[in-house]
Amino acid sequence: MPGAAWRLRFGAEVLRELGRHAQRGLLSRESVGQLYAKDLTGKTVVVAKATRLKPSWASWSRVRFDVQQAMREREQLFRDGWHCLGFWHTHPELDPMPSPEDRALAAEHARAALTLTNGMVFVIVGTRPLPSGLRVWCHTGSDLITMTVETPNVAYVSTPLAAQSPRHE
Ligand SMILES: [Zn+2]
Repeated sequence: MPGAAWRLRFGAEVLRELGRHAQRGLLSRESVGQLYAKDLTGKTVVVAKATRLKPSWASWSRVRFDVQQAMREREQLFRDGWHCLGFWHTHPELDPMPSPEDRALAAEHARAALTLTNGMVFVIVGTRPLPSGLRVWCHTGSDLITMTVETPNVAYVSTPLAAQSPRHE
């Protein structure tokens, strides 16, 4: 499991997939999906798969998805050796920030058992071309920590908070 300082690396295919859904038009809608890795044991966890969930409802600046659908997808992919790291979604902003709703969702899912002991990865794709449009957070179960995105596609977290295991409340 990743220690106090660990990195996420986004595979080229994942960046392409996320970039395809970036919201650059007024008629665009938010997209949402999940991020997966095969191996959680190294200091660098490679995000090698990004799925897209069918939104149950989506508008320009908000999206809802079916949690059951998300859980089913995780179970299916787990059978093929994929570990869910968290969620991605799009925002129609240059420098996207998590909404109060996003924060609540991240906290809720970080407290539920996810695979990463450090918590849950939370990615928002803004309108800048990737990788600069990529914003990454990690929710530890108690805090939402900003992960610095290094060029070109490596997100890095080294805060001591991230070393704590998620709290079970
Ligand atoms: Zn959002």
